[in-house]
Amino acid sequence: MIVGAGIIGAAIAARLGEGAAHICLVDAGPPGSGTSKSSMAWINAHNKKPRSYFDFARAGMRAHAAFAERSGGSWYRPARTLQWAEDDAGGRDLRETVDRLAEWGCPAEWISASAAAGEEPSLRLPAHVGSVACFPDEALVDTEPLVAALIDSAEASGVRVLTGPHARVVELTTAGTRISGVALAGGDHLPADVVICCAGWHTPRVAATAGARVVLVPGDAPGSEAPTLLAHVQQGPHDRPLDRLILAPGLHARPLPGRRLYLEALDLNDLVDAHTPQHRIGELSRELLDRARDILPGAAGGAVLTEGRVCIRPLPPDDHPVVGWHDEVDGLYTAVTHSGITLSLHLAGLIAEEVLHGRRAEALAGYRPGRFA
Ligand SMILES: Cc1cc2nc3c(=O)[nH]c(=O)nc-3n(C[C@H](O)[C@H](O)[C@H](O)COP(=O)(O)OP(=O)(O)OC[C@H]3O[C@@H](n4cnc5c(N)ncnc54)[C@H](O)[C@@H]3O)c2cc1C
Repeated sequence: MIVGAGIIGAAIAARLGEGAAHICLVDAGPPGSGTSKSSMAWINAHNKKPRSYFDFARAGMRAHAAFAERSGGSWYRPARTLQWAEDDAGGRDLRETVDRLAEWGCPAEWISASAAAGEEPSLRLPAHVGSVACFPDEALVDTEPLVAALIDSAEASGVRVLTGPHARVVELTTAGTRISGVALAGGDHLPADVVICCAGWHTPRVAATAGARVVLVPGDAPGSEAPTLLAHVQQGPHDRPLDRLILAPGLHARPLPGRRLYLEALDLNDLVDAHTPQHRIGELSRELLDRARDILPGAAGGAVLTEGRVCIRPLPPDDHPVVGWHDEVDGLYTAVTHSGITLSLHLAGLIAEEVLHGRRAEALAGYRPGRFA
């Protein structure tokens, strides 16, 4: 039994479906409609530290490239990320990133401002920016078609997928210290000898119904750092396509299907939480659009705001995945992580090994749920 059909649950369902019978995936809403739908979905190992976590993310990047090639996935967009800094501290951080990635074997290089403008003609770089960091090995994915492909693959191999309000899990049921199934809001009880809980930022609440502990930064607490602000804008008829992720001070921008752009900014994230009123979200979203028009006039000059929202990240306190069996409840397994789009396909392969074949994956040893005890 898999609880949650975000990118993590969908990837696990697709992998488990290849090797086992009688698997069921339940979600309170349509597949991929939680955090995964709002993700920037940048496939990267950019700021992943220490080295072991970087290697983990690199494996995630390779898994995406391989899956897209195998399935002809148009959701996968290899894209040379461009990033620059405008102050001393930002410059030091960026040099550290480029040097570290290059040393760890991940392509990262400096190009001149004019070369960057040649690659991305919609850019207007500030005059004092002389060089731009380029990360040629990174990619973006479109999460909706990716999740749909994973769900199709799971269903094709016999996984039963139940979604909608009636399929919301109200309790993980136990018999003694062993998991026995899930109770759904619609009144059904589905028996299960193994439950994999991948309910995104809701995971601590769901796991707690069986007496299990999952530690995340509380997503809906006032002032929590887990919520982020994002805006979607529709490009104007004369705007150029944007071909990559732009990481500018004060703006992150990427293309979305349908001539739309995704926008976010780290400094504006600090101004929102799960309780920010809609009118304030609207103001901050318009600020994102203004910044995009300034930094990417060729791509956003004629853009209009279509949506602004706050979305909650599943954020473990140490930023690393929380994956594995629970010592406190036999048969209960948790899989929740930030950077879940990057890590999903690689994680799903490791989880399938652990759940189906009982082989402990060494790569997951540092990420067990019990480490916060
Ligand atoms: C703004 C933003 C930008 C991001 N950028 C990136 C990025 O660039 N690269 C990257 O790799 N990652 C990024 N992330 C992180 C990434 O999006 C998440 O790690 C990932 O989407 C988490 O997927 P998930 O499947 O765990 O959660 P979700 O997508 O939230 O899925 C969980 C599912 O569980 C279901 N559920 C919850 N409770 C219940 C219940 N009781 N019963 C039944 N179903 C339930 C929900 O309906 C939901 O569908 C970003 C996140 C955000 C918010």
